[in-house]
Amino acid sequence: MAIYDKLYQFYGPQNWWPGEGLEIAVGAVLTQQTNWSNVEKALTKLKEADCLDLDCLQSIPISRLESLVRSSGYYKVKAQRLKNLINLLISEPNPNREMLLNVKGLGNETADSILLYLFEEPYFVIDAYTFRILDRIGLYSGDNYMELQRIFMENIPNDIQLYKEYHALLVKHAKSCCMKREPKCLACPLRNQCQYYLEKSTG
Ligand code: SF4
Repeated sequence: MAIYDKLYQFYGPQNWWPGEGLEIAVGAVLTQQTNWSNVEKALTKLKEADCLDLDCLQSIPISRLESLVRSSGYYKVKAQRLKNLINLLISEPNPNREMLLNVKGLGNETADSILLYLFEEPYFVIDAYTFRILDRIGLYSGDNYMELQRIFMENIPNDIQLYKEYHALLVKHAKSCCMKREPKCLACPLRNQCQYYLEKSTG
């Protein structure tokens, strides 16, 4: 929680996840391996086509769906994943984690994003940014999604709003300060508890 407090103090509330309702689930699929601005373009196209609802996403021909989500990259794969997810959401409006993971193409991060931000279920979302920051700080150096998720969930209060805000803050921090290359450690609110920074600054 000390990390969360510092990030929140520094960046303020992030007001995530952008969009609401089904848009969250669609965004979670489209954001795989791309940045959010590309996802936004695809979401805008879907809205303009009046196709951000279950009926349309189920009935729309896959080739048309591919063209609408083209800007998000890997559009053929993502269009098929969207179809797979929509079929689940039509047959099971309140899916659990296992059901989401059984959808071809959906992994832990996408499933947990949908569970947390759409269904308001308490699953902490882990992503590459979370691994990077925790590794640099010196709290976790592995690459096991479930293990790092468990560490978060065992060490912070079970609070959905906190889970949402914390993940959003880690994303913000990774993008604006703790970048992959040349992190801005001197401007970082976590530097005094960061192993990476302390090791570098002491030579
Ligand atoms: S001090 Fe540097 S490496 Fe550590 S969390 Fe901050 S930006 Fe990242």
